[in-house]
Amino acid sequence: MRTQRQVVDYSLQRRAVLRDVKNGRIGTLEVCDASPYLRNAATFHGEPTDERCPICRRDNLTLVHYVYGDELKQSAGQARKLAELPVLAMTLREFQVFVVEVCRSCSWNHLIERFVLGRDGLAADEMLHTDVMVSSGGGGPHRTGPSTHSGEVRR
Ligand SMILES: [Zn+2]
Repeated sequence: MRTQRQVVDYSLQRRAVLRDVKNGRIGTLEVCDASPYLRNAATFHGEPTDERCPICRRDNLTLVHYVYGDELKQSAGQARKLAELPVLAMTLREFQVFVVEVCRSCSWNHLIERFVLGRDGLAADEMLHTDVMVSSGGGGPHRTGPSTHSGEVRR
């Protein structure tokens, strides 16, 4: 997304939790504790992935995007479909997005990343875009912005 910025990646924490589950230091009940609200959000607003649940391996993970920020007013803290985020980003100046992965089979859930979206990021993003185009010789369509830190590269 064009205005994505201030990306915080939680894949290290996730890996640490999975390691602790694997060596028995944390029980699966402790990490497979998605609330009914989170499970509903995954069903109705979730983004399906091709990644198997690391705990039960029965189902693919679903990503849920929660939005926070004063400008959202009463809808702050709600789950939104991924397709709704660019629209919000053009409407609002700034809001936080928290991405949570959920397994609808065993209720495993973990925060994956958070980032900021909104119109306030447009100028900075466009400058970054120009920099990348110049340094790469300007050839071809280019994916720019902090989204390359989102972890999908490593998967
Ligand atoms: Zn699972």
